Amino acid sequence: MHDQVADGEAVLVLNAGSSSIKFELFALEGGGAVSRLSGQVEGLGAAPRVIARDGRGRLLVDRRWQQGEAGPTDHASALAIIIEGLDRAAPGARLLAVGHRVVHGGPDFAAPVPVDAEMLRRLETFVPLAPLHQPHNLAGIAAAAERFAGIPQIACFDTAFHRSHAWEADTFALPPQFHARGIRRYGFHGLSYEFIARSLAAEDPVLGQGRLVVAHLGNGASLCAIRDGRSVDSTMGFTALDGVPMGTRSGQIDPGVLLYLLDHDRMSSAEISRLLYGNSGLKGMSGLSQDVRDLEASDRPEAARALSHFAWRVRREIGALAAALGGIDALVFTAGIGENAAGVRRRICAGLEFLGIRLDPARNQANEAELSPDGSAVRVLMRRTDEERMIALHVLALLGRAGQAAAGPDQIRSQ
Ligand code: ADP
Repeated sequence: MHDQVADGEAVLVLNAGSSSIKFELFALEGGGAVSRLSGQVEGLGAAPRVIARDGRGRLLVDRRWQQGEAGPTDHASALAIIIEGLDRAAPGARLLAVGHRVVHGGPDFAAPVPVDAEMLRRLETFVPLAPLHQPHNLAGIAAAAERFAGIPQIACFDTAFHRSHAWEADTFALPPQFHARGIRRYGFHGLSYEFIARSLAAEDPVLGQGRLVVAHLGNGASLCAIRDGRSVDSTMGFTALDGVPMGTRSGQIDPGVLLYLLDHDRMSSAEISRLLYGNSGLKGMSGLSQDVRDLEASDRPEAARALSHFAWRVRREIGALAAALGGIDALVFTAGIGENAAGVRRRICAGLEFLGIRLDPARNQANEAELSPDGSAVRVLMRRTDEERMIALHVLALLGRAGQAAAGPDQIRSQ
């Protein structure tokens, strides 16, 4: 990282996953937050690699460590590499705060919070609710708190946006004591949904107050019903395993199947967990890959069937969420598959004409922002999500930088 790319006040956003940390540095310039540096350290514990790009997306660094070389092995050493890169690429940056993506905020957190040792302990109580994500998110916070002592660490939750749900949407049909213990639906991908809802409202205030179904279709996939900028319901529930099939996750499955696997097949809970999180979804069904591009390129019938089932389940959820909203004004596709996979969008929308949903084939093929024909009663849109920017905007709002966090249409749309 050689070019000097940021000077002055800045916010760092960290998104720590199981084997990676993504980062993005936003400089506060011209009344807004401008992305100056982004990238990730990935392959922690296996084949580490660091990639960094400047604010225009130009590659600054792409380094891999060979076997036997001393590369980053954990979140702390990955963060050390990120900090070294920031020092070199943005030596003048004065960090106001570090914003962290945290998967689970439990039942109470409906907004971002500053994290101190006591709060970190509280967030640890949610680890059993998101065992594959939460420990890594918290490891990222602990590492950053140590390296950036005295700089506020702000946790931004994937569940927070969904705390506007009615009780009916979030309860299971179990005796009430289960709900009281936190066994209930939470919803995830909230930072992405909030970014999309706020961008659309900035672009078109009438649509911003309307009934939106947003399909966040990436490796993890879910859909959200939004009315007047607030989440009404979501396909993900107690864990990020619920809802539609995903890259490697099963999505919703009859709970009786789990009982059968436990009792009849004598599978352990660890084996079932591996099956549902890692060996199901597009990868498990196709036996080939979790990546839509591989499945589209394959002539194996299992690949076509996996895509067909995925589209079927997403279509069904769009209908269910339109019912939750009492109608639909716009369907928005986002994330890796939603933004790029024209064939999948076509399959999903085929059969939704009864709701007024239609695609313009040329616009769909070209991944245009407006995917439906002009004058359609229900608009079908493609929008690029930006969870890191949403985190930066939350951090600025929490720091009282309301002007910079207000995010006028240009700012929130500048992706
Ligand atoms: P994550 O949930 O890990 O952030 P992404 O939102 O980046 O995932 O989505 C990744 C997925 O998007 C890939 O696995 C692939 O299935 C799909 N994808 C990305 N680009 C394309 C493309 N050009 N065509 C079809 N599918 C794509």
